[in-house]
Amino acid sequence: MAKMNRAGRHFLQIPGPTNVPDRVLRAIDRPTMDHRGPDFGELGAEVLANLQRIFQIVGPVVIYPASGTGAWEAALTNTLSPGDQVLMCRTGWFATLWKDMAERLGLAPVFVDTDWRRGADVDGLRAALEADTQHKIKAVCVVHNETSTGCVSRVDDVRAAMDATKHPALLMVDTISSLASMDYRHDEWGVDVTVAGSQKGLMLPPGLSFNAISAKALKAADTARLPRSYWDWRPMLEANKTGYFPYTPGTNLLYGLNEAVKMLLEEGLENVFARHDRHAEATRRAVRAWGLEVQCADPRHYSSSLTAVRLPDGHSADGLRAEILEKYNMSLGNGLGILKDRVFRIGHLGDFGDLQLIGTLGGIEMGLRVAGVPHKSGGTQAAIDYLAGNT
Ligand SMILES: *Cc1c(COP(=O)(O)O)cnc(C)c1O
Repeated sequence: MAKMNRAGRHFLQIPGPTNVPDRVLRAIDRPTMDHRGPDFGELGAEVLANLQRIFQIVGPVVIYPASGTGAWEAALTNTLSPGDQVLMCRTGWFATLWKDMAERLGLAPVFVDTDWRRGADVDGLRAALEADTQHKIKAVCVVHNETSTGCVSRVDDVRAAMDATKHPALLMVDTISSLASMDYRHDEWGVDVTVAGSQKGLMLPPGLSFNAISAKALKAADTARLPRSYWDWRPMLEANKTGYFPYTPGTNLLYGLNEAVKMLLEEGLENVFARHDRHAEATRRAVRAWGLEVQCADPRHYSSSLTAVRLPDGHSADGLRAEILEKYNMSLGNGLGILKDRVFRIGHLGDFGDLQLIGTLGGIEMGLRVAGVPHKSGGTQAAIDYLAGNT
C-alpha cells in the first residue's frame, strides 16, 4: 500500500534513536574510506581520544559496530566467568533485558527489585553486598538512565555503597540513554565498565556502541573465562593503539561520531547537561499542568533525557500515540513490559531545542484532546512560561 505524503517534518520524539543533526548527516555523507589505508588511523585516533572526554575517563574506550546490546555482552564476557554472580537492579525493562542476557551467558544474576518508579534501590544493593561475605558477587550492574521509566539511578550512591562494604566487585553501568545528555563521570564515580550506544545522546544513527574500561576491568579480562571472540577487548585495544580496528569498523558512522563529539565539546558538556535538565523540567511542568502523572515518583531520580507519562486508568497510551502519529506526524515512545499501554514516553534528548520541545508538547496536548483523554489544557503554556522565564 502506498504511503500518503505528510507535509512538514516528522517529529521523532522517542527516547532513541534520536534526531541526527545536519552537521552529522553531512559528515557521514562521504565516500567510504579504506579502513586499513594510511588516512584511516588519523580519524580513528582522533575520535578515540575525543571520546574519552565524553565518558570522563583517562583509560580506553572501545567502539563496536553494534547496537547497545552488543556492548552489554562485551562488558559481561570480557570480565566474568561461567557461574559468576552478578548483582543487578530491576529498575525497568532494560535492566530486565540485561539480566536475561546475563542468564543466557551462564552467569548467575541476583536481582534487587524496584517498583519501576525510581532508580536503583541502593539500600537493597548494599544489603546484598554486606550479606556476600565470601565475595561471590563479581559485578554490580546498574542502568544509569532506565529508558522504560524515565528514572535515573544514582551511580555515585551505588559506588559509595560498594566502598562502604569494601566489596571488590566490578561496577558496570549502562549509559546508553544518558551519556552526553546527563552528567556522567566514569573515573570519578569509580565505574569499571561503561556501556553506551550511538543513537541517543550522541545524536548518531544506530549502529555503534561502546565500552569505557577501567584498569581493574582490564585486569579482570586477563582471567575471565566466558567465551568471547568478536567482543574481545584485547585485539581491539591492540589495533586501536594506532587508530585502527581488528575488523571492519562502521567507517562512515565514525565520521559522524567525530563530528558529534566535536559539537558536544563546542557546546560544552556542562551546557549540554543544563539544556537537557531545563527541557526535562519544562516537560514535567507541562505534564503536571495537564493533571497527569510522571512515572518517576522520586524527584532525585528524574531523568533529563526522557519523561514517561502515566495515562489515567481506562485510557490507552498506545491509542493516544497512534492518534498523535496519524494526526500530527509525531512518534512518541511506547510503554514497555509492565508499562505497556500504561505510559507514553517523551524523548527530549540529543539535538533538541526549545521550539522542538514546544512543538512536541503542543502535539501531545492536541492529541490528548482528540483522543478524549481527561486532562486540563495549559500544559504547553506552562512549559512556555518556564522556558521563557529561564533562558
Ligand atoms: C536503548 C537502550 C538499550 C538497548 O540498546 P540497543 O541499541 O537497542 O541494543 C539498552 N539500555 C538502555 C538503557 C537503552 O536506553
